[in-house]
Amino acid sequence: MNSLHARYPFLASAREAVRDANLDPAAVIAGEGERHPAVERGVERVRRALLDGTVRAPDDGRRWATSTEVLSYPIARLLVSLLNAPGAVEKYASAEATTAYERFTADFETPDDGLKSTGGTSLTLQQLLTDFDLSEDVVARGDDFGVDVVTYISLASDYGDDWRLVTRQLSDGVVTVSQAELHELLRTAVEMRIAEDLPLSVPSEIAAALDEELSELESSFTDADFSHDIDTLAPELFPPCMTALLSRMRDAETLPSHSEFTLVSFLASIGLDANEILSLCEVRESGRGDRLRARIERVRDERTTQFAPPSCATLQAYDDCVNQDQRCETVTHPLVYYEDALDENGTVTDWRDR
Ligand code: SF4
Repeated sequence: MNSLHARYPFLASAREAVRDANLDPAAVIAGEGERHPAVERGVERVRRALLDGTVRAPDDGRRWATSTEVLSYPIARLLVSLLNAPGAVEKYASAEATTAYERFTADFETPDDGLKSTGGTSLTLQQLLTDFDLSEDVVARGDDFGVDVVTYISLASDYGDDWRLVTRQLSDGVVTVSQAELHELLRTAVEMRIAEDLPLSVPSEIAAALDEELSELESSFTDADFSHDIDTLAPELFPPCMTALLSRMRDAETLPSHSEFTLVSFLASIGLDANEILSLCEVRESGRGDRLRARIERVRDERTTQFAPPSCATLQAYDDCVNQDQRCETVTHPLVYYEDALDENGTVTDWRDR
């Protein structure tokens, strides 16, 4: 087991390393005595994923052992499966994939040179393609890459208009993409693999052993729920990031999955129901409306916890933090921006009553 497995625990080689080391997540969870560090890191992994959109350990000086980091991944998958809350699996998979994307794009730019920063185990493009069974579907073409059209369609189906096949150079069943676009497609491949079997069916004895951890997670999300204080819909006071996403949605652009999730979770968090979100987004046609409604229903559940949308740091990582203004300098979360803007503006007429 090495730091490559710790940084990319979804790789097949990481799973094999866990098996070869005779490490059984179920035994670690059910172990007697103090909570195993891998369980602790698993809880942190899920909390960070759902609240901050990343699974990186916080910058608090604490360092986790390689085996702890690797084992925390299957434990986090069990925890997120047990949460049984709308949007949790999707957001967790997106955060894992975003963190992996940040790491592999950095690794590809600075190949392994034995420096301590990577522990001598950075990931290469070829390794990632091989692990995902994509080495025959992706070929280098000068500075660009050719991607098998079936693979391209399966990975780019949720992307915007720029990714539609009619706008692409296609020959002999191969679509040309830039290096940055290939990295985007690989991010989606990672997200799909992570989400593939989730939620897992968790044996009852493991669920019982994780009871305390689940309560801990649920209370973190309740603390982070900003929606109780917001009951006014005033789109003109939205933070610039949400104004931009809303405008793209109204222009009938197909937003990337993470951006659509961000907008929908923001709107659900300020109390909008599915019909109000569709109306505000000016989505009327049945195909697009049905897809968005399904997304809203996954994100929003009026009976249980609503997960807050990502923080400013996560939006910055996604390139969705745009047109920052003065208020942005004072906040770390788009919901706080909106709360402050409402407070400062006193009485405003709700958009639903105009
Ligand atoms: S700083 Fe935060 S609130 Fe402002 S645009 Fe960026 S993500 Fe939105």
